[in-house]
Amino acid sequence: MTTIAFVGAGPRTIGLLERLAANLSALPAPRLRVHVVDPYPPGGRVWRPDQSPLLWMNSRAGEVTMFPDDTVRCAGPVRTGPTLAQWAGLPSGTFPSRRAAGRYLRWCFGRIAGSLPSTVDIVQHRTRAVRLCGRTVELADGDRVEADLVVLAQGNIDGRDERYGAGHLPPAYTADADLSFLPAGADVIVRGLGLAFVDLMMLLTEGRGGTFHRGADGVLRYRRGGAEPVLWAGSRRGVPYLPKPDPAALTGPPPPSTGPAPGSGSAVPADPDAFWPAVCKELGWAYYHELCATRRDRTAMPWPDFAGRYASLAWGSDGMRALVAEAVPDPADRFDPDALADPLAGKAFASEEALAGWLRRRIAGTVAAPDRYAAILPALLRIGDRLSGPALGRLAKLSAFLGSGPPPYRLEQLCALSRAGVVRFLGRLPAVTVDGGMFVAHSATLRYPVTARFLVDARLPDDDVRCGDPLLAGLVRDGAAIRGGRLAVDPDTFQVLDTAGRPHPERLALGAFATAGRLGSFARPRSDAAFFRQNDAVARWLLHHVSASTRR
Ligand SMILES: Cc1cc2nc3c(=O)[nH]c(=O)nc-3n(C[C@H](O)[C@H](O)[C@H](O)COP(=O)(O)OP(=O)(O)OC[C@H]3O[C@@H](n4cnc5c(N)ncnc54)[C@H](O)[C@@H]3O)c2cc1C
Repeated sequence: MTTIAFVGAGPRTIGLLERLAANLSALPAPRLRVHVVDPYPPGGRVWRPDQSPLLWMNSRAGEVTMFPDDTVRCAGPVRTGPTLAQWAGLPSGTFPSRRAAGRYLRWCFGRIAGSLPSTVDIVQHRTRAVRLCGRTVELADGDRVEADLVVLAQGNIDGRDERYGAGHLPPAYTADADLSFLPAGADVIVRGLGLAFVDLMMLLTEGRGGTFHRGADGVLRYRRGGAEPVLWAGSRRGVPYLPKPDPAALTGPPPPSTGPAPGSGSAVPADPDAFWPAVCKELGWAYYHELCATRRDRTAMPWPDFAGRYASLAWGSDGMRALVAEAVPDPADRFDPDALADPLAGKAFASEEALAGWLRRRIAGTVAAPDRYAAILPALLRIGDRLSGPALGRLAKLSAFLGSGPPPYRLEQLCALSRAGVVRFLGRLPAVTVDGGMFVAHSATLRYPVTARFLVDARLPDDDVRCGDPLLAGLVRDGAAIRGGRLAVDPDTFQVLDTAGRPHPERLALGAFATAGRLGSFARPRSDAAFFRQNDAVARWLLHHVSASTRR
């Protein structure tokens, strides 16, 4: 009998089990025991069923699937199954709660476990794995699992973050954080306007008894519950992410390219600024291609004429500016990547009310036209595929800003909360100091500082395998290599590497804590998702080792 231990029962492990089951169906059945270790039920921590229904996915139900289809290029047999929308009977455009996704994942786990041959059994351990020593996985409940092969699929782990003591909530999973220390009516400085902020905002408003109503004028309004604090929110950009675009807007044919794409052929400069004009030109190409194709009323030149001249002009040149002015009469329709990436840069407001008014108008505009920038996302991803280092980092942040924002309705709620005075804005680049037990925020946007007794860092912890998880910290002490705080793994086989670069023969790792196999989002149906291809390769690697050890 061969034994495989999976640490983590999140989507990655469930996806690996699906591929294991599918590949086993085509093999003579070996005797196999699979251990799955996680303190949370199948589906894992992010998707656990006991969290507030106010915590939503930022994926639409039709965008989420745990089953491959015939678009997936993998060696193992494809066995199809329902998307989250199909399984739950939801319209595919719905943004489900995370606990609804957890119910889907638990069902997937059950179905997959039930499809295994009788020679294979699964043992679940609802506890943490705390140490991996040789072939022994030590569990927090005192149990030990002897495993021939170990797969670490631990997702985001906790890390090393600055702590200011009482009154400060450091980066955390919002679902795990105890928010009861934030009293009704108290001012709270919040750093971050991303998805963790949206979770926090919902828990502290609707979660504390407030309600949203749409008036006869169509405007969404907030009625206070009385227990909410006042959130003063700012972030690097000072504006929330753009609303999550509709995938239908992203699945059209990729825009044509201006020619050799940035990053191909010649070396990418280490300084992302040096690279930016080439990226802007490529993104502008995608943007104007879409504008010419879909908004003829907004353009004054046919695409072939525009394209012929655009290709030979440098980004930012007088010639390029003249061409764009001639072809796109309204400046509001022109592509301005700097204003897009950093809309508050250079702006300062005399009062929070003035800043909030500007922000609400901007947010309402992005909600009304959520897919305006969707066309440049495929171009961004295509350029990102060829980059690494700081240039990739800058692009990844822009992709997240454009493509991984909250559901549009959550942004409408943000505007309603701003009108009700429950959410206030700090603007861009808030710097927080501590003065006499109070937190003081100075931003580049507001002309005066804001003082509060409470500070919340609304983001996930900076994970670091040296300190975020005892098992991983132990592996590092025992000689596993790290890169940028992550466990170093072979990018093709996902084998854990030691400091000499040698792959471990029996240990694999994939996920956010490792240098490969990060699952930024769920696999979309009919997209040949890397998730399935990776899982298939790993499952076949495991089965190859199972049959080799059975023969020994
Ligand atoms: C708050 C949040 C919201 C998200 N929302 C979305 C979304 O809406 N749409 C989307 O596509 N993606 C979303 N994501 C991305 C999400 O991380 C991935 O979709 C997916 O959950 C990653 O799967 P995973 O299995 O790699 O890791 P995880 O889902 O993190 O699962 C890892 C599991 O490992 C367990 N674990 C860790 N250490 C140990 C240990 N030592 N012993 C035992 N068990 C351990 C954890 O308890 C956890 O259950 C979100 C992520 C977060 C953090």
